[in-house]
Amino acid sequence: MASISETSLDDRATALREALGSRVVFAHEPEYDVVRAPWNPTADQRPFAVATPQSAEDVVAIVRAATATGLRVAAQSTGHAAPGLCETDLSDVVLVRLGALRGVTVHRATLTATVLGGSHWNDVLDATAPHGFTALHGSAGDVSVVGYSLNGGVSFFARAHGLGINAVRSVEIVTADGSLVRASADENADLFWAVRGGSGSFGVVVSLEIDLLPYADVFAGMLLWDASHTPEVARAWAEWTASAPESVTSTLRVLHLPPLPELPPFLSGRSLVVIDGAVLETDARADELLQPLRDLAPEMDTFGRIPAAGLVHVHMDPPQPTPAVTRHCILGSLSDEAVAAFVAASEDPALFVSEVRHVGGAASRPVPTGGAVSAIAGDYVVHAIAVPPVPEVVPAARAAADTFIERFAPWAGEALVLTFLDGGSDRAPAFGASLDRLRAMKAEWDPRNVFAAANPVVPAGG
Ligand SMILES: Cc1cc2nc3c(=O)[nH]c(=O)nc-3n(C[C@H](O)[C@H](O)[C@H](O)COP(=O)(O)OP(=O)(O)OC[C@H]3O[C@@H](n4cnc5c(N)ncnc54)[C@H](O)[C@@H]3O)c2cc1C
Repeated sequence: MASISETSLDDRATALREALGSRVVFAHEPEYDVVRAPWNPTADQRPFAVATPQSAEDVVAIVRAATATGLRVAAQSTGHAAPGLCETDLSDVVLVRLGALRGVTVHRATLTATVLGGSHWNDVLDATAPHGFTALHGSAGDVSVVGYSLNGGVSFFARAHGLGINAVRSVEIVTADGSLVRASADENADLFWAVRGGSGSFGVVVSLEIDLLPYADVFAGMLLWDASHTPEVARAWAEWTASAPESVTSTLRVLHLPPLPELPPFLSGRSLVVIDGAVLETDARADELLQPLRDLAPEMDTFGRIPAAGLVHVHMDPPQPTPAVTRHCILGSLSDEAVAAFVAASEDPALFVSEVRHVGGAASRPVPTGGAVSAIAGDYVVHAIAVPPVPEVVPAARAAADTFIERFAPWAGEALVLTFLDGGSDRAPAFGASLDRLRAMKAEWDPRNVFAAANPVVPAGG
């Protein structure tokens, strides 16, 4: 591989164009601004070039052509986590956007699916619903399966079934030397360990195999009150979750919604407190479990049995690209003081959403056969999400999210959740005790640090 000093930028562009033709777009070309645009537009990512593979063979060609000219490579499926990637200098990076590499094959007999590298969770739900199956997807259908799963993956099934990362059975990945490699418990087991947490730092995943869940429907929904009820709702939810069985995964959130015509009148311009989630029980048992929360007389109660694919709409995540700034921390428990801090912090109208996700249960138990990351080190994830409408207010949004999280410092552990990182933080605490081995694996599989990622792992000794 040529070093950056050996080859001028123009020579590298020429070499890439010769190797890749129209599959690569450069900054001076009109399509550049279209193909570089991430889901989260607060990230103004300006890579050396953007490549758009149509097949695994294309990905091999792209990695080989980029590394042959001394360039680095970053895999990106949607750009939900683009702010993290943008903390890396992208001026010598070929951004591999995998939006064309989508498709899902369900294997009924093994209750698994093979998922192409750029697929979204909506693709999985479309494919699994006719079989009466679902998967450990997150709250948004347009997040990619690879980016979510290989960074952890917290679903509304998390307390019962663990993190999405543990549902990955194998990956097909293009590594730094341009090889297409399969990694599983039986093949390249060290790489399989590393990629489950190390994700894009180890290569471009062109497909992965995941376990599915045999659920055609699920008891799920939300309870909604005016935000003036936040103190009593938050206290009741904290008490409720302390003894909730692992079949229940839920979230407490306070939303400050702008007055937008596209929102229904009961949401537009209002501040609300919401509890949403899924209860993997019979209807009767689920109703019994929810009763203490329903006793607080919610203004709206949508909990009931729904098709499993409908779970992806329960959290009301934006269905289109959205400027977002997020910060989070993990708490071991939710004390009265922490609840009071949440109530006070959630009043900040600069935050679109303040939320606490109840994890614990299977989500917080390390899996012996798991990879570098297999569990969350705590029972609650506290999360602030701001939506800065114009780039000028991004710094203020970051400050609001930082201030929110600082309020939980007395109870927060050091650990973080990879999927919820949004740049702005040291990633090391999210890798925990696996960091040294991950860096050693990186030195073995990608010694020249070809792959940049939203949550980068740098080679040991580098
Ligand atoms: C609205 C919204 C809702 C969310 N809800 C949840 C939730 O419920 N639970 C949860 O756990 N997380 C959730 N997230 C966080 C989300 O899971 C992470 O941001 C995730 O990393 C996004 O993956 P992506 O591929 O879509 O994003 P990208 O920015 O495209 O990718 C993120 C990183 O993943 C890696 N990557 C992606 N694709 C590949 C590939 N094919 N090969 C190799 N590496 C790859 C790269 O390192 C990349 O930098 C949510 C995020 C948003 C914005």
